Amino acid sequence: MKTFCGRANPTTGSMEWLEEGEDYDYHQEIARSRYADMLHDKDRNVKYYQGIRAAVSRVKERGEKAIVLDIGTGTGLLSMMAASAGADFCYAIEVFKPMANAAVKIVEKNGFSDKIKVINKHSTEVTVGPDGDMQCRANILVTELFDTELIGEGALPTYEHAHKYLVREGCEAVPHRATVYVQLVESRRMWSWKKLFPIHVEAEDGEKILVPPSEMENCPGIPSVCDIQLNQMPSSDFSTLSDVVTMFSVDFSKPVQSASTYYRVQLEPVKSGKAQIVLSWWDIDMDPSGMINCTMAPYWVKPTSALQWRDHWMQCVYFLPREEPVLQGEKLYLTACRDEYSVWYNLQKAREGENKADEEEHKADVRVESPVCRCRAHLLWNRPRFGELNDQTRTRQYIKSLRKVLKTDSVCLCISDGSLLPVLAHYLGAKQVQCMQPSRIDLYHPHELWQALLLKFLLSAFFKANHLEDKIKIIEARPELLKPSHLEGKKVSVLVGEPFFMTSLLPWHNLYFWYARTAVSTHLASNVTVLPQSASLHMMIVEFQDLWRIRSPCGTCEGFDVQTMDDMIKDSLNFRESKEAEPHPLWEYPCKSLSDPQEVLTFDFTKTVPQHCLSTEGCVKLLRKGKSHGAVLWMEYHLAADISVSTGLMQLPDEKGNCEWNPHCKQAVYFFSSVIESEIQSDPTAVTYAINFDTKTGEIAMDFKL
Ligand code: SAH
Repeated sequence: MKTFCGRANPTTGSMEWLEEGEDYDYHQEIARSRYADMLHDKDRNVKYYQGIRAAVSRVKERGEKAIVLDIGTGTGLLSMMAASAGADFCYAIEVFKPMANAAVKIVEKNGFSDKIKVINKHSTEVTVGPDGDMQCRANILVTELFDTELIGEGALPTYEHAHKYLVREGCEAVPHRATVYVQLVESRRMWSWKKLFPIHVEAEDGEKILVPPSEMENCPGIPSVCDIQLNQMPSSDFSTLSDVVTMFSVDFSKPVQSASTYYRVQLEPVKSGKAQIVLSWWDIDMDPSGMINCTMAPYWVKPTSALQWRDHWMQCVYFLPREEPVLQGEKLYLTACRDEYSVWYNLQKAREGENKADEEEHKADVRVESPVCRCRAHLLWNRPRFGELNDQTRTRQYIKSLRKVLKTDSVCLCISDGSLLPVLAHYLGAKQVQCMQPSRIDLYHPHELWQALLLKFLLSAFFKANHLEDKIKIIEARPELLKPSHLEGKKVSVLVGEPFFMTSLLPWHNLYFWYARTAVSTHLASNVTVLPQSASLHMMIVEFQDLWRIRSPCGTCEGFDVQTMDDMIKDSLNFRESKEAEPHPLWEYPCKSLSDPQEVLTFDFTKTVPQHCLSTEGCVKLLRKGKSHGAVLWMEYHLAADISVSTGLMQLPDEKGNCEWNPHCKQAVYFFSSVIESEIQSDPTAVTYAINFDTKTGEIAMDFKL
């Protein structure tokens, strides 16, 4: 069977649909999966084991046989725990075929084949009866179907179905219950991920303010979860306005309802401020008594010494539909609405002298419909992009360099997706400003078409809100199709880009700007200024505090041999001849630099893309003691003389090697196949590298050796 995989082509800035063998999809799935991270999550594993043992004992004490249903068995881990705890039989359900196959092997290797039956089905397809998948209903329900938002992976409909058809009434469930907690906060940093702030520009003729369109002001945004490593958010970046409050719980041992509903709690702010954000996390009690508790509570709620690092469960940031000034001690209602898969929040003020009856009336007002973005920006820009556009330091760099290069007779063309640079260029005095956005006719993929339409709407709304609709022209064409008439017969004297493109995944994918620049060459004046004038690729060897876990073999997990899983992940990572770098936002994943940052390749935007590949080889010295887990790569853009912006390191690492990363960008991480331990005191070690930028494909391949 063949599958088609969407992949952004950095030379065209579009999606390409490549035919891949059947294996490709699942290798991607396994290689990028969270299985390794889960197996390394000691706290989770220990508590599941305790919970499972306790559940099996309770059933046995009642004199019943312990029949376990493990939905989403993955490696088979939880079923093996149950079998070891004395369960009589386990039905281990796994929908993903390669995982079900792996579970069979792992179960066999650990000697549990007679106690565990792996069933490769979605749980809702499982049948019960003498000829069914299961002989009888189970009396212990074990699952681990949770994501950071708890319900995003479909736990509720799965439980609902299981209680109806697969387990007995009064069954034991591990976990027994989940509880969702919230805390109301004010945070300019996090609020800047939801809303665009006005941008101030000092122009020749006074200060100009670029304002967002009014639809953006109270736009509720989209219900997709914003999950982050909240433990990396310093306490100086937010201020808590309420105590931690229990929002809702789900008892997994009783029938579960997945239909849309809402929960509401009363709050009294502990401090006056602007209510903007609801921070949320959950915990699970593995047994009814609540003695075995596994929590995602962040550092200020839970003593740091007990924090378990994990990436498969983090914390959630919810954005209120609008900012609400609140007073210490006033009465507020916070409502959590949810459908089957996602949660969103609303805040209401209690009315003066409100009584119980009013409260009931209030409830009737609650609307459970999921939020719909009205301004379109939330459909186009993700949260980091909002943050980037709101980053004043970054904007100032662009303003400073535009001011350097623009003249009153400048004909300026901007190539970047949905960028606000054209507005800055106009305010700073460029005579003619145009921006290129692909048009409907150039695109044939429905997703791209939709994006192009949205981009045009959004830009038009911005121009209109700032009375610029007849000042800045949107050229609806791809760079290859630019015609002299688009430019009113003029040549471009200043070509600008952030560069930013929505299809970019890895830092160097924004080099599409270079390809676009090459495509519009004939329209550029002979003395054209290109901003940025160049870009450079930088690289540094690092030791991760925790991120290494997601790609590191586990060996045994709570005494069970899971090496089959390790091998499978390794195979999938090596599926392509050359291993690939992967994007990670490193502000969330602390690391220590072991080498100096090194500039490895440069890309000269004043010239066209060369025919030949750009490659480099070299050697980096390891300066600090530590484990070399991998290399981090990022781009820096040289906007004008002495003005650069970095998408990676914001400054040189300190003397201990601590790094500060650009908080709006993902960096590329290349994990080494084997970890190199350096003891530099005795003998400085070095890592050699070979990096190749293929100008035909726009991809970068790399290889590292000790
Ligand atoms: N139980 C394992 C793995 C958990 S990951 C452990 O705790 O280590 C969750 C797994 O559940 C994934 O492999 C996913 O493919 C599977 N899954 C999710 N929903 C399912 C369902 N309704 N039926 C069967 N498998 C499911």
